[in-house]
Amino acid sequence: MGFYAIIALLNAIISSILGLFVFLKNKKSLVNRTFSLFCLAIAVWSYSYFFWQIAITQEKALFWSRVLMAGAIFIPIGYLYFLFALTKKIKEKGRFLNTSYLIFIFFFLSNFTPLFIKNVVPKLGFPFWPNPGILYHPFILAWLFCAFYSVYFLAKEITISTGIRRAQLKYVFIATVIGYSGGITNYLLWYDIPVPPIGNWAISLYLVIIAYAIVKYRLMNIRIAIGRMAIYIFSFLSVIGISFSLVSLNNRLLQPISFNILGPSIIVIAVLFFQFFFRLFEKLASRYFYYTFYSYQKVIGDLGKKLNKILNLKRLSSLIVDTLIKTMQLDRTVVLMREESGHYAILRNIGFKEENGISLVKDNFLTKYLERTKKPLVYEELFLAQKETVFKKEKENLEKLQENMKKIEANLCLPLFREDKIIGVIVLGRKISGDPYSQEDIELLTTLSTQASVALDNARLYEKIQDLSENLQEKVDQQTRELKEAYEKVNKSYQIEKKAHQELKHLDEAKNQFIMATQHHLRTPLTIMKGYVSMILEGDYGKANRETRKKLVFFQQSTEKLIRLVNEFLDISQFKVGKGVLNLQKVKIEDLVREIIKEIKPEVENKGIYLKLEKPASLPFVQIDPSKFKEAIYNIVDNGVKYTEKGGVIVNIKRQKAGTILIVVKDTGIGMSKEELDGLFEETFERSKGAKKLYALGRGIGLYIASNIIKAHRGKIWAGSPGKSKGSTFYIELPTK
Ligand code: ADP
Repeated sequence: MGFYAIIALLNAIISSILGLFVFLKNKKSLVNRTFSLFCLAIAVWSYSYFFWQIAITQEKALFWSRVLMAGAIFIPIGYLYFLFALTKKIKEKGRFLNTSYLIFIFFFLSNFTPLFIKNVVPKLGFPFWPNPGILYHPFILAWLFCAFYSVYFLAKEITISTGIRRAQLKYVFIATVIGYSGGITNYLLWYDIPVPPIGNWAISLYLVIIAYAIVKYRLMNIRIAIGRMAIYIFSFLSVIGISFSLVSLNNRLLQPISFNILGPSIIVIAVLFFQFFFRLFEKLASRYFYYTFYSYQKVIGDLGKKLNKILNLKRLSSLIVDTLIKTMQLDRTVVLMREESGHYAILRNIGFKEENGISLVKDNFLTKYLERTKKPLVYEELFLAQKETVFKKEKENLEKLQENMKKIEANLCLPLFREDKIIGVIVLGRKISGDPYSQEDIELLTTLSTQASVALDNARLYEKIQDLSENLQEKVDQQTRELKEAYEKVNKSYQIEKKAHQELKHLDEAKNQFIMATQHHLRTPLTIMKGYVSMILEGDYGKANRETRKKLVFFQQSTEKLIRLVNEFLDISQFKVGKGVLNLQKVKIEDLVREIIKEIKPEVENKGIYLKLEKPASLPFVQIDPSKFKEAIYNIVDNGVKYTEKGGVIVNIKRQKAGTILIVVKDTGIGMSKEELDGLFEETFERSKGAKKLYALGRGIGLYIASNIIKAHRGKIWAGSPGKSKGSTFYIELPTK
């Protein structure tokens, strides 16, 4: 088997696998579909080439050379189709394409007649070289036209494109020139020009270059698929190598094993070994191929892991910027962090000129776009997007974006997110090598941006908390100082108050002493006076005449009133200074009232009025201080008698439901006006004119004392009167428990 056969087989395998992968990767993409069709044409051509080369009879050679041409006829038109799809010119070139297809289909149909290939003859070492028929010549013209047009078209496209698209097209251009230059040589021998055909070699080279462009420049976005394809091819070749070795080893044996046995066993061995090789190459590729070609990507992958361990914003951003610059060989990189105001602060910058606007970035069209798309934004790709879009608005937006990026000299913007909100941007310049960013780079940077986002956000929060805790300490200190000052103030006023309290205490003691003195100096002589008067009246010092006795009785009454008055004053003072301590006893209230009535009786009789007690058959006991409570009720009943000229006074004791009794003192006397009723029980009560007239000696404090005593017993006192000279009623409510 000659080299031509081997190279043709190789091309056949590579082109069919490449075509299949590209198709499977994205069946919907027109670029992928047209490229697959082109690969199919190459595969048909290459397989037949192989069989043509190994043919041993004329008929077979003629047949395979015709099949070969069937594939070859569609190569130029298929390739144009692919180029138009790649540059999005299908619609524009629709008519041109359709006419060309019709022409090539015509050639295809004529291909199986002698009009296209007459016969096969030996030529330049080839045993069966085809002789051209009449239609072969126009085909060659069409073929040449397509080849030159493809090269011209690509050259024109390159001049009007930029960035990654330009890089992609450059590779496609080089591959096309090589492919077609080689292709031409395949037809020279048909015209007896003695140049050996090198089209097959050229096509191999073409496929390699295209595969490289696919890997490096995201042509058709199938880098991973290509990697797999390489592994398949290597595995396949290894298995073929082993099979051939086995066959040739067998041939050298003295007694070779029959092919009937060897054939199937080789197939079994090949299947088993294929899997082994596949795994081996897969391992080798991931370990060495990737590593040597993309070592910086590994570094960036490792960087992501490192970021988690740093909580200092400055150190984090420095690490990101320095690593990116060094490993990707960039001219500039900056990390921008969004502040609450919407401005983007520079955390670390290498290479960007701040005066060109990078320090002025704030929420704008660019950042909003990044927030919306959540994808890295490549400056060059904006040109592509702009070209592709048909919407005017979108075009304007893209132009605006481009302007924004140009202003800050950005080639790639890597947005940083936290919970869908943009928190910053890593802005990259261009690669010093001039290479565009590959798909690999972008995928890697996307992963890095996720890790960087988390790390940067955490660091920012951490610094915020640290700031806060420092502030907090300051605030706590400040408040402690203030508290201390306040405490000192309070302490000072406390000291003043303490002093005042002590002074008050002294005053209180003085007052108590005054009360004691009053008690002693007023009441004692009065009691002595009272004693002597009663002794004189009882005749202890000789019999007094009637007139003297009359005066002495008057004297005795006045003394008693005076004693009562002194007692009242003492009561007020004592209640006021909180000394009105009650000496509580279980008492029958009706007995107490009876005693009062008995004491007042003489005056009642004197006045010719009545004083009666009304009560139910039984009454509960009450807990009271008998002498104090008697004084209170005495005052009220006494008032009733004092201020009544006609009729009389009725004291009614009632039992009430809510554990209380009610004492009602009702008279038919002078009554009270509304104004008099208000403030009746207050210390500063002014006596009414009528009252003054009836009882000139009144002091207007009896009721005040009575109400104080009743309140001290948890009781209530109130009064009512329908009006002047219509009598008054006093109510005293007292709890029984
Ligand atoms: P006084 O020593 O003046 O009676 P009170 O405190 O006992 O002092 O009474 C205050 C005033 O209330 C009396 O001066 C009188 O104007 C009025 N008052 C008290 N009880 C009656 C009553 N039963 N009828 C009419 N007015 C009364």
